Amino acid sequence: MQMDRHNHLWSNVVALPAMSRVAVCGGTHGNELSGIYLVRERLKRREDGIEPVSVATLMSNPRAVQLCVRYVETDLNRCFTRAALRRRTDVLLGRRLSSVGLVCQANFGPRLCRREPTPQSAFIATSSSASACAPVSEDTPYEMIRSQELNALLGPKGSAQAVDLLCDLHNTTANTGLCLITEMASTPVRYVHFDIPLDEAYSLDSVGKHGFAMEVGPQPHGVVRSGIFSAMQEGVQLMLDWICQFNSGTLFEGGSVDVFTMVKNIDYPRDPRTHMITAAVHPDLQDRDFCLLHPGDPMFLSFSGETLRYKGKEALYPFFINEAAYYEKGVALSLARKRRVEIPSIRSDTLR
Ligand SMILES: [Zn+2]
Repeated sequence: MQMDRHNHLWSNVVALPAMSRVAVCGGTHGNELSGIYLVRERLKRREDGIEPVSVATLMSNPRAVQLCVRYVETDLNRCFTRAALRRRTDVLLGRRLSSVGLVCQANFGPRLCRREPTPQSAFIATSSSASACAPVSEDTPYEMIRSQELNALLGPKGSAQAVDLLCDLHNTTANTGLCLITEMASTPVRYVHFDIPLDEAYSLDSVGKHGFAMEVGPQPHGVVRSGIFSAMQEGVQLMLDWICQFNSGTLFEGGSVDVFTMVKNIDYPRDPRTHMITAAVHPDLQDRDFCLLHPGDPMFLSFSGETLRYKGKEALYPFFINEAAYYEKGVALSLARKRRVEIPSIRSDTLR
């Protein structure tokens, strides 16, 4: 009986390739400071020679980081759709990049989990084909150019050369706790899923074969809070420990996990003529990310004192409530549906 159960367990194990190339990126938004300081720490540790796992560590948007702004010209984390990346990478990389002096801050630490080292050259992918591309002019926003460089370094998106796993570090002003956002302690983790095809996926994490944003809040932009920084640091360390164990052939038993799938965004009430917002998030909703919102629950409090209620027919889970960076995007909060997803047992196929 025990043998049968053992065989049953192994017959349901999904074998996946080992992860030989992993990237941790911070500063994709230049005013989200936990990820920026975490990347700086990792780069320092690399210099000290005490990096425990082979990982490329990158500062995604160094200009925005320098200015402590979300972006310089356009949101970098919306520049990674397939269409946007089909621009003339040869022109971009050959001309504009050298003229603006972009530096890719990255390290490639020694590898302790794999039997053979991955040469750094294997990490530097060449730019993708320039066919079917849109022209690039001197007016092309800085972040569009930077996205090409990151795609060349970490992708190309959708190719066999792309990094196996890309973890992009973000902060939010919303009270989300530690979230993993994708198309993964002592800190509870929530999984948010944006149901977007790979071609249309716009964020940096979509460049890797697998990827996710690690989003930790609440933390005001331009500020680093030690509790938030520590949660992010622990999250990155757990990910790296997991990769070590996975690459060593450890079997991870399956189970179920709750996933929040994005359904829609809700904008602030606005004056139809001026488009200015006329209400703030209601105090009963503020900071209640991932707490079920029922039809009729308070959603906004207008500046004239009127409570505006959730008019949807279905109870949904709000998140990114009152995120500072989303005022310009017309998003007061997002709503998600929770579902339970069964995860099979997995192990790396290195032992075969
Ligand atoms: Zn961000």
